[in-house]
Amino acid sequence: MSAQIIDGKAFAGTVREKVAAHVTKLKTDHNITPGLAVVLVGEDPASQVYVRSKGKQTTEVGMKSVEHKLDVETSEADLLAVIDQLNNDDSIHGILVQLPLPKHLNEDLVINSIDPSKDVDGFHISNVGMLSTGQKSMVPCTPLGCLMMLRDHHGSLSGMNAVVIGRSNIVGKPMAQLLLGDSCTVTIAHSRTKDLPEVVRRADIVVAAVGRPEMVPGDWIKEGATVIDVGINRIPAPEKGEGKHRLVGDADFATCSERAGAITPVPGGVGPMTIACLLANTLTACCRANGLEEPEGLTA
Ligand code: NDP
Repeated sequence: MSAQIIDGKAFAGTVREKVAAHVTKLKTDHNITPGLAVVLVGEDPASQVYVRSKGKQTTEVGMKSVEHKLDVETSEADLLAVIDQLNNDDSIHGILVQLPLPKHLNEDLVINSIDPSKDVDGFHISNVGMLSTGQKSMVPCTPLGCLMMLRDHHGSLSGMNAVVIGRSNIVGKPMAQLLLGDSCTVTIAHSRTKDLPEVVRRADIVVAAVGRPEMVPGDWIKEGATVIDVGINRIPAPEKGEGKHRLVGDADFATCSERAGAITPVPGGVGPMTIACLLANTLTACCRANGLEEPEGLTA
């Protein structure tokens, strides 16, 4: 079997178009412009790239984009003061603090100081609790993007066996909650899981969120299963020239795509969906803040 490629780049484009259309409607009908504030502490190069990309896409869909770039030495009190100001700013509906933070800042404390209704990353303890108890919450962007692609591909996920490899707070755990919410039978695997290949072979849906290049080979995949590859790993690519790199996922694309029914590529799979879902979450937060109907198909 040769797997169908789930084109995350194209899907993300569709999500952005839906968001943009809804933003236009909000402006026309209610004179409201959704606003997203991104807070970056320090000068981590990867974080700077993400923040730039987030800002650009935010304005492209017609939203207001605000960036707070703070010095790497910023104190916790000063960072909390910025968040407090954004919490109280009615023109800001989404607040995202770019992670990781410099070591002297307490990440949990900072995230939990964001107003949960503006926590568009879905990392605030209230949102985590609401997601796990099946209440309306802000859902972490990467797992939300995976869920959207799975729903689009399969329709109903009810009764399917899903294996999530990885138990991080930002991907693995919320992904498992979302799949459970869609009535999958969910297994969460991690570094201590015994006989991982056998566990994965039972899965109709495999979500790989490990951070180990091409760790999942094709012979772990049940014939016809759907593979969602969250991993983004930079590996040396001498074939492209000295010192060059290329991106690969956590699944070995060549062998997995021979057995899977459908698979997301890296790059061009889950990655583009993450920012698209950030925009969707900001729109959702704005609609909720104004007591307006939420856009369909853009939330869990
Ligand atoms: P973390 O490092 O926080 O978590 C990795 C998880 O993988 C841990 O739960 C760990 O288990 C598990 N693990 C590690 N080694 C093994 C192993 N040999 N077998 C089974 N499980 C293992 O990573 P993240 O969740 O933050 O990210 C995972 C990947 O997804 C990374 O490549 C990251 O770059 C990518 N990513 C992509 C995003 C996107 O937008 N596409 C967004 C976020 C992440 P244990 O808990 O036991 O240590």
